Amino acid sequence: MENSQAPVGEGVAPLTGACMCGRVRFEISEPLIGAAYCYCKRCQRRTGTAFSATGLTRPGSFRFTSGEDLVHTYEPGDGGWNKSFCSNCGGHLLTSNPDNPDLLAIRLGALDRDPGTRALAHQFTDYAAPWFPVPDDGLPRFPERLDWSQVDLEA
Ligand SMILES: [Zn+2]
Ligand SMILES: [Zn+2]
Repeated sequence: MENSQAPVGEGVAPLTGACMCGRVRFEISEPLIGAAYCYCKRCQRRTGTAFSATGLTRPGSFRFTSGEDLVHTYEPGDGGWNKSFCSNCGGHLLTSNPDNPDLLAIRLGALDRDPGTRALAHQFTDYAAPWFPVPDDGLPRFPERLDWSQVDLEA
């Protein structure tokens, strides 16, 4: 808790990250609000694996520092969040709410180092792959999209 609450400049923020080829780089100036694991089928298809680990950023704290011209965004078009990735290497970078770009979540695997934040919940657990059951780790589970208002951000 101490760690996740640390202000900018005290070891946790700013966070930096990159795609796999390194041509796209970004910076997050404030600590993440929280993080979660997503088991939806969309995350399975785009990652090729069981889930996405994603961290919600504070509005206005995210910016690209290089390679923004390489970033492509896939828009599902059905209200699902947009998915941004590096067009050169395919590395996943972030997802954002199509109706409110301030709601932007980073893929934790793209970060350069430990953000100090741990996942607070599992979401879309009804869609978890049979070959990777949701771990029994005591975190709250949401059969569909998680409701951040039901998650204890101070935990
Ligand atoms: Zn790349
Ligand atoms: Zn998902």
